[in-house]
Amino acid sequence: MKQLFTLSLLALAALTGANAADFPVKDKPITIVVPFTAGGPTDRVARDLAEALRKPLGANVVVENVAGAGGTIGANKVAKAPQDGHTVLLHHIGMATSPALYRKMPYNTLEDFEFLGMVNDVPMTLIGRPTLPANTFKELQAWIEQNKGKVNLGNAGLGAASHLCGLLFQDAIKTDMTTVPYKGTAPAMNDLMGGQIDLLCDQSTNTTSQIEGKTVKAFAVTTAKRLTTPALKNLPTLQESGLKGFEVTIWHGLYAPKGTPAEVTAKINKALKAALKDPEFIKKQQALGAVIVTDKRSDPAEHKKFVAAEIAKWGPIIQAAGVYAD
Ligand code: ASP
Repeated sequence: MKQLFTLSLLALAALTGANAADFPVKDKPITIVVPFTAGGPTDRVARDLAEALRKPLGANVVVENVAGAGGTIGANKVAKAPQDGHTVLLHHIGMATSPALYRKMPYNTLEDFEFLGMVNDVPMTLIGRPTLPANTFKELQAWIEQNKGKVNLGNAGLGAASHLCGLLFQDAIKTDMTTVPYKGTAPAMNDLMGGQIDLLCDQSTNTTSQIEGKTVKAFAVTTAKRLTTPALKNLPTLQESGLKGFEVTIWHGLYAPKGTPAEVTAKINKALKAALKDPEFIKKQQALGAVIVTDKRSDPAEHKKFVAAEIAKWGPIIQAAGVYAD
């Protein structure tokens, strides 16, 4: 019996190709799956991180965009990927909000992944098309009031960070808007700049350069305090603009399929911790308003604890809003 058990373990290791000592396999790239379109904020974080991980991992790190259904398609792909450490997921707060938004989830956030550590916290910004007549948040509120029933708001699908922010915003100003879903906020940003949609709430990693270049109008940040990033420091918070208690910060973490050997996940976590200290990575992220994780959330156990707490936090808020997708 014992022999059989050992044999089946060996067979499992061979099947998954999970020989921890060989990780990373020579000449085989490590793929970071981004569950949204290229050129958007999650993609931005992933591409900067891929660069910072190359040296500590001793492997080529590439990014693959698997977009759709608010991030759940890409996350599901990684949940079912070979458990060899060569396919990992970079995802945001959607890991915690999707379970409340989807009636049927193809994976379980807490059970189907190995947690590899968190990467950063990113504020969101409320932005509008450049032709919008309003210039301040107060003017925006008045314009929304005058155009009730006609205002549209882009997002990256149910479960996306932009969806959550839009939901909270509509609730806070007690006004329903027409939401326009995309597979990521990169295409939403294009349509916003082109005037096809009116508003978007998106991570500063996607909006900072557009705000700086004045190709969109910026109205507020979603954090409790104003930001220090030069391009964003003059923006008021939504709280000081009158939306009491409005606070949403997006976080990103790294995940591997459940069952990835502990030696492999430990190697990835070690490389992630090195990347989080890489001055180039820190500088690039800071310029976009993102704050690199320096606390214990870069440890897998704390990362998992944090996500569990976020699921508990957002679940009732989303349920109260009564939004569901099948
Ligand atoms: N910012 C998007 C979101 O709303 C995702 C993306 O395109 O990266 O979740």
